[in-house]
Amino acid sequence: MKSVKKKIIPIFVPHQGCPHDCIFCNQKKITGVSTDVTEETVESVINECLEYIDRDASIEIAFFGGSFTAIDIDIQRKLLSVAKKYIDSGDVDYIRLSTRPDCIDEEILAMLKEYGVRIIELGVQSLDEKVLVDSVRGHGVDVVYKSAEMIRNAGFELGLQMMVGLPSDTEEKCIATAKAFIGMKPSCVRIYPTLVVEDTGLEKELNEGSYTPFSLEESRNIVKKLLVLYKLNEINVIRVGLQATDDIQIGEGVVDGPYHPAFRELVESDMIRDYLEYFYMERHKIEVKIEVGVNRKNVSKIIGNRKANVKYFADKYNIKLMVHEMDMELDDIKLSFDDLFSQVITLEEIYKALFNIYKL
Ligand code: SF4
Repeated sequence: MKSVKKKIIPIFVPHQGCPHDCIFCNQKKITGVSTDVTEETVESVINECLEYIDRDASIEIAFFGGSFTAIDIDIQRKLLSVAKKYIDSGDVDYIRLSTRPDCIDEEILAMLKEYGVRIIELGVQSLDEKVLVDSVRGHGVDVVYKSAEMIRNAGFELGLQMMVGLPSDTEEKCIATAKAFIGMKPSCVRIYPTLVVEDTGLEKELNEGSYTPFSLEESRNIVKKLLVLYKLNEINVIRVGLQATDDIQIGEGVVDGPYHPAFRELVESDMIRDYLEYFYMERHKIEVKIEVGVNRKNVSKIIGNRKANVKYFADKYNIKLMVHEMDMELDDIKLSFDDLFSQVITLEEIYKALFNIYKL
């Protein structure tokens, strides 16, 4: 199925009045100030974006920032009413927002419906009780299931966000969270490897030696398994990388943790490498040269970041990985060896094989 082109008008709601103290978040509390985004800001951001945005696309206004429905209800209404004007005029198609699982109730959902909100993303982070407690989230697992159900029953699309590597987290817990997410039938998921940001509880624990972030390697190894699970269950992973806290912008203030600007590309290259290793080494016992043909857009993914996959096969097996640009569908990969054998395989088939390779 061809995907419809989507364009996003992002509106960042810092939510400085959040009463919570999540261990990974560095928002500064300013008592009594719920948000510094005004109706005027919202209007000018939307107008500015609409000037250059592709009008043939499906256009969404996205209130990013983590806890939209935790801010003062009158302010929510004011901000949403500006966005709604653009829906009524046909300039914008729908509204997305993200919030905490414990900031959802029937009344709030009715209000969001009134203003044309279509997608509600929940910043869940983990479905392990101890991880939630140790991350000072301020709510347990039960409320996540309850609000996810309420959101879906009220006819909204559900988005779920998870973090990998919070205090007490493990690979098993991440996989269990992903499997539980799948059971909640979200339409989209975001995955954020946990980064240590300055002025957070996590930085304090890091300095005291009571918290160790997952390494980049560990995070990649976990996230590749999550991607397989979501893909095979037809759940769209709309983001992999930078974490969900309200104040983190592209890598700013990160003091430790598995930060990489192209995290998702690294993970997807690892997945291809794992499949190639299984196909050529385990199944066909190839010893000299392996050749892969792909659409131009996928060449770098096969070669890997800084030729990581080429080096991997050279170092581990003394084998040359050759990648050819071919006139092929985006999702197809041609695998050949010994000038005798060749086979075209789809990404879908690769994901299915990885499910077994990773023993999921
Ligand atoms: S992550 Fe969201 S809920 Fe937690 S402290 Fe930050 S703003 Fe508040």
